[in-house]
This record gives sequence, structure tokens and C-alpha cells, in this order.
Amino acid sequence: MPSTFTKTFDTPAYKGTVTIPLGLYINGEFVDPVEGGIIDVVNPATGKVVTSIAAGTKADIDIAAKAAKEAYKTSWGLKVPGTQRGKLMSKLAVLMEEHIAEFAALDALANGKAYNTAYGKDNKGAIAVMEYYAGWADKISGKTIETNEKKLAYTRHEPIGVVGQIIPWNVPMFSLSLKIAPALATGNTIVLKPSELTPLSALLFCTLIEQAGFPPGVINIVNGYGSTAGQAISEHPLIEKVAFTGSTLTGRKIMEAAAKSNLKSVTLELGGKSPNIIFDDADLEQAVKWAIHGIYFNHGQNCSAGSRIFVQEGIYDKFLDQFTEQARAIKVGDPFSPDTYQGPQVSKTQFERIMGYITSGQNDGATVHLGGKQIGQEGYFIEPTIFTECQPNMKIVREEIFGPVACVIRFKTEDEVIEQANDTSYGLAASVFTKDIDRAIRVAHALEAGTAWINCSNQAEISMPFGGFKQSGIGRDLSEYALENYTNVKAVHVNIGLRL
Ligand code: NDP
Repeated sequence: MPSTFTKTFDTPAYKGTVTIPLGLYINGEFVDPVEGGIIDVVNPATGKVVTSIAAGTKADIDIAAKAAKEAYKTSWGLKVPGTQRGKLMSKLAVLMEEHIAEFAALDALANGKAYNTAYGKDNKGAIAVMEYYAGWADKISGKTIETNEKKLAYTRHEPIGVVGQIIPWNVPMFSLSLKIAPALATGNTIVLKPSELTPLSALLFCTLIEQAGFPPGVINIVNGYGSTAGQAISEHPLIEKVAFTGSTLTGRKIMEAAAKSNLKSVTLELGGKSPNIIFDDADLEQAVKWAIHGIYFNHGQNCSAGSRIFVQEGIYDKFLDQFTEQARAIKVGDPFSPDTYQGPQVSKTQFERIMGYITSGQNDGATVHLGGKQIGQEGYFIEPTIFTECQPNMKIVREEIFGPVACVIRFKTEDEVIEQANDTSYGLAASVFTKDIDRAIRVAHALEAGTAWINCSNQAEISMPFGGFKQSGIGRDLSEYALENYTNVKAVHVNIGLRL
């Protein structure tokens, strides 16, 4: 396997040449995997292999975890003041900004998302997240707690140590930054595994770590397969915390491995089947636009996608007409074309999964109102799809499809729709559209979800927590709340006069 990959892009959206190393980034250098494994990276727009990268296994995770532990004890953690950590993180954000076009090109290539989305949303977001947590690095503080005159009592929020992070493919660089940044700010060292489907941008990121001034071993990035490298992170005895974003199924495996190994703490950001509720009195034009964004943004490959659209009977027909018209107009095509909104699904597996759900909806008696088919013969493109006549027990209504597939469901009353919206094992996000402020807030509070959007959908703010109720997860990403995932609270009792 060559040690680098060079790609010249000559596309309408991006022209330039990108070179990345292909090895594992451990202890400040690119190394070959102990067992010599590889991952073929596929361009989902063509189905063809772009390059092969190194795949780490348990042995590489072990080396990375030991390097991270050493760095934690010697050159990071409590050895480095927060001001210094913040400075390095700010430098990293500047370097990410300098290479933003290359990051976006690599994500569009391996993920299939529109280059403009990869640039303007994912990577801009990733940089902003790094900057945000750089600002937190010197603001980690405990409390002094009044007990009695003979004691000084205070708390310290100490780093956990070595943390493992396992990220998915749908927003590669945003996920990476969202996990790494709060862990660094609080003084932890990291072993991170990107998704096997979208590892390229993470490799470019590795080239910036040393330039930013991080000591070796603070950030280790080990590409590999979930069942080997991912599992090894979940099990490793030196790794004291694991943070994961991905499917509920894999989340369960990670929790099990964490429980069986060293009882490492676990935070999970899992899937969703988010309801989007549109009442008769909503601003219809806006509700339609937000509903389109809610389900079709990022090809429906969004944990918070508004995939169950409940529309009150008085505006159901009008909504469906306008929603259908806009879904039909979505520009699906080459990720590197400037006007593309939807590219291919990320992989053959995901493509087949989604097509399987479409078949299951048809077999269960739902109506394909729009779409439902593959576009073209090459790559993994799927038509924006709308199902109507859906019943609550159908798989397409109950399970996360993670593709451009919406179920539009008619409802009569507020009580009925709250009941239906909450009838799911998930609880990540929910939207409500109405001009009645009382109802908007009442319904938002009644929905069992970690995020409630009123008259909007799919919104994230770096300063707002994001995470799930029920089987959508444990813990929160983003905001000040995410810092809690990466610190241990120590209670210190100082005797200033108590005598035995
Ligand atoms: P996974 O949950 O399997 O993958 C997410 C990450 O976990 C990847 O890095 C993966 O590695 C890793 N992983 C896989 N198995 C293990 C394991 N046993 N131990 C530790 N890590 C592991 O998602 P899929 O890619 O298979 O997608 C399936 C479905 O998951 C989607 O259709 C969607 O419903 C949901 N999903 C939800 C996401 C979200 O944002 N909440 C993101 C992605 C998927 P590798 O890439 O090598 O498999």
C-alpha cells in the first residue's frame, strides 16, 4: 500500500490537489498497522474504490491507548494549564480553516454529500466547535461549598484520562470536532476511530495536529473496522470513557463491552424517528420548507431527521401538494456540482437498506406518493420519497430509515398527535408548527425528545446541548453540557480546625 494518496479535483465546485497520508496516526506519527489491514474507500457517486487506507485492529488500539496514557501523565491532562490547551486548540481551528476546501472535497468524495454542504455546514461547523471549546479550556472550574467553619470544602472537575471516541459517517468532520474538542478542553487524551466509510478527512486532520503544537499521544486517530478497532476501544482497560455516535444497535454493543471490561463511562448519541407536527394554523409555506429541510437535508442521513410528518386534517391536502412539489424539485446529482442538494447515499449497504425499507412500506400497504426508486445505474442515488397512508405499526413508521424517505401522516387532534409522536422507542428531536404560542410551548414540552423545535427543524447551536431521551442516547454533545462528559468531579475536604 502506498503511504500517501493524492487526488486532483477538477470539478465545478472545487479545483485543487489534496495529498493525505494513509497510515494510522499514533503517538504523533503515521504508522503502519500491526496486522497490515486495509480499508477500501469507495466513492458512492460511482461505486468505485478511490483508495485504500490502513486499518488498525486491537493491537493498534492498544499501542494508541498506551501512548495516550503516557501523554496524559506527562504532557497533557493536569500537567498543562487550560490557557495553553485553549491556545493549541485555537491554532488547530485556524489550520482547519486554512484547509477547509480540502476537507470539504474529501468528505464530498467519500460521503457523497454536496461539496457546498460539506464546506458551508459540516466543516464550518467543525471549526466553530473547535473555537468554541478552545474558549472553554481555561474556564473549567469547581465550587467551594459552605459546610462549617472548621472545614474548607471544594470540588475539582478533573479530566477523566484516556477517552475513546467512535464516530459515524454522516457528518464526518463535524462529528470529529464535536467529540475531540470538549475532551481536549477538559484535559483528556484521545483515541478516536472514524467511520470506515469516511476516513479521509480525518487523515488530513491528523497532519495538522503536530503543526498546531500538540504533544505526541494527545490525539490518536486509528482508522479501522467497527467490529475490531471500535470494539477494542470499547473494551480497552486504559480507556476510561467512550463516546459514540451511531446506531442504537452498535450503541448497545459498546455499552456491553464497556460494562464487561472496566466499567468505563459511556455517552451515546444514537438514532431517531423524529416527529414533525404541523397544525392547521401553521404558516404553511414556512412549514413546507422546514419539513423539506427536516427530512431531506444530508440525503435524510441525519439522526434528527423529521421522518414522521404529522399534518392536521384541515391543511393535509394543501401541505401534501406543496411538499410533493418541493420534494420533486430537489436537485439530486453529482456532489461536486454547485447546485446539488442531494448526492448519493453513503454506501451500497445503506442504499440497499433504504430500498429495503421502501419495499417493506409498499408490502405493508403504504402508498409511494413520490419517488421510491434508484436514480440512474451508477452510484447509490435514491429519489426523494414520500409515503402516505402509513399505519403506526409499519416498519417505515417505527424504524430509522436514514435516507430520503418521509412518512406523511394525517391527524385530527392535539392529544392524538402527541400520543402518536411519542409512540416510539426513540427520543432525539421533534418539531411543532403552529402560530398559537400556547399550543407551541405546550406541545413542545409534551414531546419526549432531547430537542424540541418550534416553527423550525434540524437546527443546532454549538451553545445548545444535543442528545436523546429514551433509546436515542445518553449524555449530551455540544454546549457547556458536553464538558460534563469529560470530567470527574472530585470532592476535597480540608480540615481547618476539626480536632479528634
Ligand atoms: P454504526 O452504528 O454501525 O457505525 C457508527 C460507528 O460505529 C462507525 O465508526 C462504526 O465503524 C462503529 N462500529 C460499528 N460496530 C462497532 C462495534 N461493534 N463496536 C464499536 N464500534 C463499532 O452505523 P452504520 O454505519 O452501520 O449505519 C447503520 C444505521 O445506523 C444507519 O442506517 C442509521 O440508522 C444509524 N446511524 C445513526 C447515526 C447517528 O448520527 N445517530 C450515524 C450513522 C448511522 P465502521 O464504520 O467500521 O462500521
